[in-house]
Amino acid sequence: MVVAMNSTHSAVKAIVCDGCGRESPSEHLARRFERLEQATRYRPIHMQAVFLGALSPKDSGAYLYGGEKQFTGEAAALLRALQIEAAGRNPDAVLSEFQRKGFFLTHVLECALDGEPENFDLAQALKKKLPLTMRKLRTSLRSKRIIVISPAMNSAIADLSAGQTGGEVILDGGAAFDLDSAESTQRLLSRLQSL
Ligand SMILES: [Zn+2]
Repeated sequence: MVVAMNSTHSAVKAIVCDGCGRESPSEHLARRFERLEQATRYRPIHMQAVFLGALSPKDSGAYLYGGEKQFTGEAAALLRALQIEAAGRNPDAVLSEFQRKGFFLTHVLECALDGEPENFDLAQALKKKLPLTMRKLRTSLRSKRIIVISPAMNSAIADLSAGQTGGEVILDGGAAFDLDSAESTQRLLSRLQSL
């Protein structure tokens, strides 16, 4: 956590959130810690693969570790791609299965956007946060494999591949896997089965 002077109100100290790199009010930081805590609960001891997305989803059902009864959006798509049954199961059982496989999900921007920020440039935000994410991958998560998901990551692939992540960056023919594409998820599954 870095305390920085807010450039527009020099008398006010703003906290820069280490999850997303943005200056953030305390409610934002509370949500950041909540998601961090939720994810940490299902962090495997031996990481087989980290799935790396672009931006943590706003909807808690779409956030894999959000603890909702129903998985939606990105969370549902990832579980479906990995053939982990989610329907009718307790979310804890689903997440425990994901964890037992040595899987972990994280995002370059670990916080959902607050509201609809004007002039938000996702590619720029990813680029700015990426060095910190790579350090986290290298020194904390220490996964052998980093599997890039979400086409929104494509703008960051060159930097990610050139940088030091401490593991093998796994791509779908030079791009991120697209969980909304049946062909791409099929290739993801075959890749995982060949490991
Ligand atoms: Zn944040």
